[in-house]
Amino acid sequence: MLVAPYIDAFNPPRRTLMGPGPSDVYPEVLAAQSRPTIGHLDPLFVGMMDELKELIQYAFQTTNEMTLAVSAPGSAGMETCFVNLVEAGEKVIVCRNGVFGERMRQNVERVGAVAVVVDNEWGEPVNPEDVEAALKAHPDAKFLAFVHAETSTGALSDAKALCGLAKQHDCLSIVDAVTSLGGVELRVDEWGIDAIYSGSQKCLSCVPGLSPVSFSPAAVEKLKARKTPVQSWFLDQTLVMGYWSGGASGGKRSYHHTAPVNALYALHESLRLLANEGLEAAWQRHADMHRVLRQGLEGLGLKFVVDEASRLPQLNAVYIPEGIDDGAVRAQLLESYNLEIGAGLGALAGKAWRIGLMGFGARRENVALCLKALEDVLN
Ligand SMILES: *Cc1c(COP(=O)(O)O)cnc(C)c1O
Repeated sequence: MLVAPYIDAFNPPRRTLMGPGPSDVYPEVLAAQSRPTIGHLDPLFVGMMDELKELIQYAFQTTNEMTLAVSAPGSAGMETCFVNLVEAGEKVIVCRNGVFGERMRQNVERVGAVAVVVDNEWGEPVNPEDVEAALKAHPDAKFLAFVHAETSTGALSDAKALCGLAKQHDCLSIVDAVTSLGGVELRVDEWGIDAIYSGSQKCLSCVPGLSPVSFSPAAVEKLKARKTPVQSWFLDQTLVMGYWSGGASGGKRSYHHTAPVNALYALHESLRLLANEGLEAAWQRHADMHRVLRQGLEGLGLKFVVDEASRLPQLNAVYIPEGIDDGAVRAQLLESYNLEIGAGLGALAGKAWRIGLMGFGARRENVALCLKALEDVLN
């Protein structure tokens, strides 16, 4: 079976990624990832991890001690929050206005908890009044879970208001910030968010496969008070923290799993770039580039799915015009322009395109390429 000698090394083309993620990766991040692998308990690596934790705290705007990157993609960050904090039989209010809210509901059910679903239309933000009504109707609820930036539709929900409501009703908040982190305002401590997770491959413009996560002191208390062990060994934060803490805090790091060493170099670099730019400046850049893109898209006659007031700058969902072949357009963009835009997901499959302006992708060249390519292909 002589197979391997006939297989060439894989050399992907250089695409421009303007879908819902992964986004264009910073060249500096790709370079960081290719640096020499060292041991995951090497003192130099441990020093890098301490910096990485500080950088994640900055991106989340938190001083939470339990802040780290889960060694797996955003979905694992989501699962980390649910399996650690929610116990069987507990009640969770879950807001659903797109694909990822539904995924949260499935997580709740899989830990044996009870999901009370608050539905809002696809393309609309979570309605705080509906959430308040659910909190009042279910005084025994322990958590409120919602998606800050719903990538399936491009709707931004008011995380500050929702977390305020959770506090008023003695609930811990669990927030999906996979697409929001780095792209729009997000302040974990100021807004009182208890458990939050994100992803490396959206507005951080890092390689896919890592999920920054942070738990507030109240969430850590809830975790420590569990009556049953966390059912996932790999995602059990009480075990993982043995590896992530230590170092600066004086203890000794212990082996839990082999950290994805090179991927963590990449995340360190992408967060360093974000910190150097400044969070506020990055949020502003996303807003500015969105404005330029919006003008061009509207000039082509395309209509947005989400109302202006709750539109995400980093994820632009527009309806596919009548009589246009969705698949053919996206295939031609990929073939002729090396440009990827996103297809519709769930209820919007075949009906909308999702154009991402995430992280390193939120820049003028990308907007210009996308508008030119769409104009050519649509004509
Ligand atoms: C992409 C995404 C996820 C899942 O992240 P993966 O890295 O694909 O596992 C979860 N929530 C939202 C809002 C997302 O956009």
